[in-house]
Amino acid sequence: MTANLTISALLAEGAAHLASAGVDNPALDAELLLAHAAGTRRARLKSHPEQIPEDAARVRYAELIDRRARGEPLAYLVGYKDFWTLRLAVSPAVLVPRPETELLVERALALLPEATAARVLDLGTGSGAIALALASERPHWQVTATDLSDIALEVARANAASHGLKNVEFLLGDWFAPLAGRRFDLIVSNPPYIGAVEPELATPALGYEPRSALSPGADAMTSLRTIVRAAPPHLEHGGWLLLEHGATQAAEVARELVVRGFRHVRSRRDLAGHERMTEAQWA
Ligand code: GLN
Repeated sequence: MTANLTISALLAEGAAHLASAGVDNPALDAELLLAHAAGTRRARLKSHPEQIPEDAARVRYAELIDRRARGEPLAYLVGYKDFWTLRLAVSPAVLVPRPETELLVERALALLPEATAARVLDLGTGSGAIALALASERPHWQVTATDLSDIALEVARANAASHGLKNVEFLLGDWFAPLAGRRFDLIVSNPPYIGAVEPELATPALGYEPRSALSPGADAMTSLRTIVRAAPPHLEHGGWLLLEHGATQAAEVARELVVRGFRHVRSRRDLAGHERMTEAQWA
């Protein structure tokens, strides 16, 4: 990238590079990456387009643009992702929280009476996205978040601390393993649900995210089925189980829930019109 370019020229050049690489929002990503490289805000870039960033910032920016053009998620490059009302730190040890997962948060808030002091469990919390969104909306809820990865739990713990959320506990372990004898009013999870042989998993951008967060192995249903089968002894009478799943898995997840004795089984569509989550009540 040429020296002595103004902010507006750097942005145009970076955006053109990203566009030719097929990146979805090239102009926005270029702005966020230049702001990150220059240690400033996007708004400041917009208000001073004629300024010339210092050499070090320009070099960092060129590197970030190259990595983004090769498919690295923007969130890993800038180190954060906005989810619900929270800015969450992310690293390649955790899945980048997705906007469609906010549907799970919405349904959780809608299903439980607002005033109740509920006990809530988020299985496979990753960055803490779901657990922390719920904990911030309902300070009187007691939220438990588990993950198999201790590095992921460190990220989630740091996110809880940075938002001053004290009503969340973090436990290391495989699904319900660290929860013997404990019951909850609500269990939520966005588990890995892409089968190992599905072409979707070969999408280059997904190669940057933890494989264990995306895929449970050969059978796409493994984690969803494990959670449905193991959940009942951990649910209060009338408690809810909310699961995110792939766009083609709603019927299979619903069948599993019905067979296991859950009631009010219902799948919901995300903004793109895909049935991306199923909720069910333990009678
Ligand atoms: N619960 C986290 C999220 O929804 C992580 C999910 C995962 O890693 N599969 O973003």
